[in-house]
Amino acid sequence: MPSLNKVFGDLPVTIFEAMSQLARDNNAINLGQGFPDDPGPEDIRKAAADASLNGYNQYPSMMGIPELRQAIASHYGHWHGLKLDPMTEVMVTSGGTEALTSSILAVVEPGDEVICFQPVYDSYLPIIRQAGGIPRLLRLEPPDWRLNEEMLRSAFNPKTKAVLFNNPLNPAAVVYPREDLELLARFCQEFDSIAICDEVWEHVVFDGREHIPLITIPGMRDRTIKVGSAGKIFSLTGWKIGFVCAAPALLKVASKVHQFLTFTTAPNLQAAVAYGLHKPDQYFYDMRKDLARSRDRLTKGLEDIGFPVLKSQGTYFLTVDLSPLGLNETDEAFCRRIVNDYKVAAIPVSAFYEQDAVTSVVRFCFAKKDATLDTALERLADAVHRRKR
Ligand code: PMP
Repeated sequence: MPSLNKVFGDLPVTIFEAMSQLARDNNAINLGQGFPDDPGPEDIRKAAADASLNGYNQYPSMMGIPELRQAIASHYGHWHGLKLDPMTEVMVTSGGTEALTSSILAVVEPGDEVICFQPVYDSYLPIIRQAGGIPRLLRLEPPDWRLNEEMLRSAFNPKTKAVLFNNPLNPAAVVYPREDLELLARFCQEFDSIAICDEVWEHVVFDGREHIPLITIPGMRDRTIKVGSAGKIFSLTGWKIGFVCAAPALLKVASKVHQFLTFTTAPNLQAAVAYGLHKPDQYFYDMRKDLARSRDRLTKGLEDIGFPVLKSQGTYFLTVDLSPLGLNETDEAFCRRIVNDYKVAAIPVSAFYEQDAVTSVVRFCFAKKDATLDTALERLADAVHRRKR
């Protein structure tokens, strides 16, 4: 057998798949992988059904159907005052994952350094490495996971081709304030680096917080690639409709990658997402309010058991820091124990680090029905109290 590609051959199965499999094997409540219980907005699902029955089902334009590219441009114009030309600055992809891969492969050449922040989403590093890039890993720290000048100064250098930044940040559930974005923008400009900004969680922000796209920070318009995902915006994670928005020179190369990764994406789902993006603002506020209610339910329940919850500002997730509980086990050991013995699956945050992992933080997904959250809480109370006895 000839040797195969080591970048991918040496990769373990992702922790999300591993924990979901353990959840299935144990018939556990899955608060691990981030998908909601809710089936998603019915009108958008109907629009997809209608488009597949009555619409065009052959290859759509490689860049995305024009209605969707228009809808993306007007959506970001409306929400963020970002002016995008739908024809030269917007591309539809098969999910945020493909959008990220197309963007990374468009930018990174052998020997380029790419700054990534840990906890790091699992798709970034293998693709950077496949492109011949060298990830420079920085470590964000609980409880606030903020950027700082010293950290950026230690990593940015003349070889820094790009920085990959996820905001709102999965798994830490932070929505970055303008101050951090301006700091990052200053370094990108000083070192002439491109920002690939994973903003798939942009609409899932709570307590009146505002998501600020990095591309709208002065000086970043032409050096930022903005990645979005309809799966997250509409709680339809299986649809895998993503977007890349960037200045024409950047988008052009990303589109050349996209043409050989997937080329195009299901036209009925694109039409339905175009419809969804025109929904009134209230839809998005209601979605946030519903999710914030679930967040509060799980937060309160966990706090009552004694878990120190790090308050979630956005995403479907909250995190807890196990260290003050005196359980004497790592996040991974805790997650394995609770799925095997108490039938609740969660994700150890150490899985999002490649070096110097934070090993005491666990991520729970709260985008679930009240009854699911309540049963999980009863089981977790047992898991903590039995261990302590
Ligand atoms: N980036 C982040 C930070 C994510 O959390 C996810 C989904 N879990 C993605 C990218 C991938 O998005 P999609 O499902 O649209 O491919």
